[in-house]
Amino acid sequence: MENGFLEQKPGFATMAIHVGQDPEKWKSASVVPPIVTSTTFKQPAPAEHTGFEYGRSGNPTRNTLEECLAALDNGKYGLTFASGLGATTTIVSLLSNGDHIVSSDDLYGGTNRLLRMGIQTTFTDFTDAENVKNAIQDNTKMIWIETPTNPLLKVVDIAVITKIAKARSDIIVVVDNTFLTSYLQRPLDFGADVVMYSLTKYMNGHSDVIMGAAIVNDDELEKRLRFLQNAMGVVPSPIDCYFVNRSLKTLALRMEQHKKSSMIIAKWLQKHSKITEVLHPGLATHPQYSIARKQMTGHSGVFSFKHTGGLAESRKFLSSLKVFTLAESLGGYESLAELPSLMTHASVPAEQRAELGITDSLIRISVGLEDTEDLIDDLEQAFRQAFKAL
Ligand SMILES: *Cc1c(COP(=O)(O)O)cnc(C)c1O
Repeated sequence: MENGFLEQKPGFATMAIHVGQDPEKWKSASVVPPIVTSTTFKQPAPAEHTGFEYGRSGNPTRNTLEECLAALDNGKYGLTFASGLGATTTIVSLLSNGDHIVSSDDLYGGTNRLLRMGIQTTFTDFTDAENVKNAIQDNTKMIWIETPTNPLLKVVDIAVITKIAKARSDIIVVVDNTFLTSYLQRPLDFGADVVMYSLTKYMNGHSDVIMGAAIVNDDELEKRLRFLQNAMGVVPSPIDCYFVNRSLKTLALRMEQHKKSSMIIAKWLQKHSKITEVLHPGLATHPQYSIARKQMTGHSGVFSFKHTGGLAESRKFLSSLKVFTLAESLGGYESLAELPSLMTHASVPAEQRAELGITDSLIRISVGLEDTEDLIDDLEQAFRQAFKAL
């Protein structure tokens, strides 16, 4: 008794922690995979475990997602990370000081920034395979492909680039497959070693999770990446893993609709008087249309276009949109539009932007799952605002 209050119920704290929580009881045959948030797992005897020890090195919800992701890409192993860039950081960590990377010159702004921070990298236009051949040095250990490229939507021939790399046994070929997902393109089938994802985009598709993944077939590569995943600690939360695993259930349906709607909008834009160019690999006018058809089962909802105006018109157009939201990112159910030169690709040096053609009249959109007619009406009214009285 303390200060005259009633006696505390003995064992309260212990009960709150242990009653009803017996780990052996979780064999519920729940149809939907449970969210396991436990950071640690009971061992029957010291250093003996039943598949799980500590949440960073493995978690049932995470493993469920990783297994599913691997299968969708025709891969043997899936690994997930705290973000797409976390996946990239881990993959690049397979290399050592003094190694060299050859990378697509037109790619995700954050990947560009990361590659400039660490390992020596040569950026080149992968649509001409000769450029890749010429960029490979004795110390080249990785080739980083992004296809379609971002934000110019150039298509890189995965099989051709992989064949060049495989003339040497020590070059790892990575494909960032974020723009298409495993539903529309499966790079391992074309000889790539690692498929990298920002699951944040189409794979999750609901703009409420930041996560990344790497899918591989090679046992040794899986072991090395699995070691780094645990050693570097860039792991996702089990709750986020649950969300992405759930989102995969509608991936096929979502991608079919993104594909259909974006194609209708791309064709509409092609006929628009203020549009000079539509960069969409699903259009027969696309310079790599034949490569696109050879390695993709279709195209997603993200693409770019150029208009006849300049920065002022881009600004007015983007701020006049009502159904599309002016925001970075892509791949969600909601339509987004952005200006790469000032937003997603602002971290790319101005000189490289100019060389690539990332101008102030280049707009990138991510066509969401709204009614296509509403999206077209929105684009039309925003163009009218942008080009009014000019
Ligand atoms: C968003 C994105 C990334 C980075 O992923 P995060 O999840 O934002 O870290 C990498 N590559 C591409 C193509 C992306 O769109």
